[in-house]
Amino acid sequence: MPYDVLHIGVDSVDSLSGGCTTHFLFEALREIMRRFNDKVKLLDYPILARLNPNIPWKTRGNGAVCLRLMAQSNVISSIEELLALMLKSYTQSYHDCDPAIAILHGELHKDFLDFYEKTLRRVVALREALELAQSHDVKVVKTRSGLGLIGALAAIGSLTEGDYTFEILAYRCEEETRLLDYNSVWVMEFETWPYTFNNIDPETGRILLTPRGPDPVLYGVRGESPQVLLKASSLLKVYSKPIGYLIIRSNQGTDYHYLRVKKVREVEPYSSILLRGEVASKPKVISGGHVVFKVSDGVEELYCVAYKPSGDVRRASEKLEVGDEVEVYGGARRLLGLDALSINLEKLMILRAREKVMEMNPLCPRCRKRLKSLGRGGGYKCSRCGFKTAEATKLASRISRKEVEGIYLPPPRSMRHLAKPFRRYGLEKKGVYELEEMKLRRVLMVGR
Ligand SMILES: [Zn+2]
Repeated sequence: MPYDVLHIGVDSVDSLSGGCTTHFLFEALREIMRRFNDKVKLLDYPILARLNPNIPWKTRGNGAVCLRLMAQSNVISSIEELLALMLKSYTQSYHDCDPAIAILHGELHKDFLDFYEKTLRRVVALREALELAQSHDVKVVKTRSGLGLIGALAAIGSLTEGDYTFEILAYRCEEETRLLDYNSVWVMEFETWPYTFNNIDPETGRILLTPRGPDPVLYGVRGESPQVLLKASSLLKVYSKPIGYLIIRSNQGTDYHYLRVKKVREVEPYSSILLRGEVASKPKVISGGHVVFKVSDGVEELYCVAYKPSGDVRRASEKLEVGDEVEVYGGARRLLGLDALSINLEKLMILRAREKVMEMNPLCPRCRKRLKSLGRGGGYKCSRCGFKTAEATKLASRISRKEVEGIYLPPPRSMRHLAKPFRRYGLEKKGVYELEEMKLRRVLMVGR
């Protein structure tokens, strides 16, 4: 029996009252395994593609999922029907989501890769998604507006190259509370460091691997490989029994969303950008404790705002001086009431901090004490020996500020899903996606 290749993208299955796109995937895979086990093979880990976090109308994490699989030709239509039915029943009680499934048969065209890159960094219209789907014969299942089609198509084109990470997700029955032994999270953190990340916030000790919303995720551990995540998961003491686990591949923790722009004029509202420039105004602390400064590309200036929760980013911003060379990372917003954009700072690199020039009074030639100024045009006087002069001029003293140079990130508790934490620097993967056949059991573990 011949096999067909399918790329199945799903998005916007989650709602503020429950549900979760990865959980839908978990349920769908479970059903596929139950019904078609020996007729279906995965070609990659299930993918979770986090998309542009700066879109104001997203649901929670703005993540879409994709399954790449190989199925016997005679079961393909049954799989498609199953997914459509499951989508309908999964989302019928949620009225605040616009779910969509996109199914592409055969080879992955470069158009999908481009679409993913765009959806990751910019704002994309539904019309563009519909055009892409039409021009490549993508089968679309949607309810309501189908706005989720954007994410579903982006997920299909995602993670074909570049850096990536993994996450193991444990699911619960919705009525089960999330009970986790706090100390076991620290044990897991120490035992798997630095190959897992953002599971606990070191400053506050807050556990980050359990979500607080009503969704069915019990916990999710993020890390570098499926092996380290299985180990991490075995170290966690969980009192509420998971109904199963799913291992996914993701762009989380990669910084992949920043689009490098050369000029301020290239910055679009709601895009995620990085820009190199010079600090053009002295940082100001505004009400709420946030810090505002301007960065110039040599022609135009851009406002940058470091909000209080951004921690070290805010603290470093306050120390900036005009002329410092920086790289700013963040989401572009339109400033209310002003015809200007601002960057909501998510990361700051101080590449070159200018020396500070301080003017100082000259020293007394007789006793080396620093002279006192006698005011404008009045010359200088030594307060120890009484020496007086009208000739001397101020001395410029240069003070190095090298110690402020470096990379600044927010604490894990206020970090974006896509943001790369410090411990991943140097662990980046240079992946190129190749089809790799794997059994469903390798990514999906179901409890009894
Ligand atoms: Zn003196």
